[in-house]
Amino acid sequence: MIHQSDRRANGRIVAPDADGLRRATELLRSGSVCAFPTETVYGLGADAFSARAVAEIYRLKNRPVWNPLIVHVYSATHAEALARVWPDAAAALAERYWPGPLTLVVERAGHLPASGGADTATIAIRVPAHPVARDLLEACELPLAAPSANRSESISPTRAEHVIRSLPEVPLVLDGGPCDFGIESTVVDVTAGRVTLLRPGALGLRSIRDVVGRVDLPDAPIGAPAGVRSPGTGARHYAPAAPLVIVESITEQSLEGLRRPIGILTHEDPMQVNLAGRVELLSADPREYAADLYAALHRLDDAKVSTIVALAPPADDDWLAVNDRLSRAAAKHC
Ligand code: AMP
Ligand code: MG
Repeated sequence: MIHQSDRRANGRIVAPDADGLRRATELLRSGSVCAFPTETVYGLGADAFSARAVAEIYRLKNRPVWNPLIVHVYSATHAEALARVWPDAAAALAERYWPGPLTLVVERAGHLPASGGADTATIAIRVPAHPVARDLLEACELPLAAPSANRSESISPTRAEHVIRSLPEVPLVLDGGPCDFGIESTVVDVTAGRVTLLRPGALGLRSIRDVVGRVDLPDAPIGAPAGVRSPGTGARHYAPAAPLVIVESITEQSLEGLRRPIGILTHEDPMQVNLAGRVELLSADPREYAADLYAALHRLDDAKVSTIVALAPPADDDWLAVNDRLSRAAAKHC
């Protein structure tokens, strides 16, 4: 249990009231960073077109420079202004799902300054739905780059306390309580006249197909062990401190030989097995499972288990994002 004085984390976890928003805005306008809640996970925000501010995100997160950032804006109109062209698919998806947990990759407008080490011909944009994220975007009047507010590769924060734990140097966290979705946005590329899924996430594939018909999957299987965008970089991400293994069934045999104590992550009640481990029983509904996944991994890390065993969820589209995150959490350090 976290102590009250820790929870306030020396006054850096603040209510998202007028005073909190003013402090956040001051930091962002001066080229610093500030963490805030979104409906997916907590983000570490910075002025997306300030090289200094973006460099601070990469430094605090220890994020590899090849990994690009998502720019968060207040409305689809702001988003369109950052794009060279705004394809019909972008307009249709934005109309249906923004504000919400969907990120669109479009061609980057020529007038935009370079931002960060991952400058490319494209830009990833999202209009978040969380009221605090919206209040902040409105107050600071800046497009905000905002990757998850955690050290690179580790578990994303779904509570204000998780942010401070992972990023002890963060100057301010606006506290919006637990995140609704608890898993990152779905990222689709709408350049090149088609729609390609780059990262499964909070918005299901079926919802995207409903609007655009066909959605292409990336060339390499999602969650493949080798980083698609960056040769030589591991697929490890979203990972707890303890090694995580995925099993097809939880039996005494499948746990044999694993370092104990074991923490179990499952959506099926394993009562019939004598496990002698800590069990995190999550929902059998993929959206509810996703919402609690990172919080459960944080709890298992807190319980200092030596191995986390996850029961493999079903291999269907509804579980795509959960399966992607679990396989990345299970990937070995490289
Ligand atoms: P996050 O770490 O949640 O901020 O998400 C960043 C992710 O968005 C990256 O790892 C990519 O999957 C995706 N992304 C961001 N910008 C681009 C881009 N220009 N092209 C392709 N994918 C992008
Ligand atoms: Mg992240």
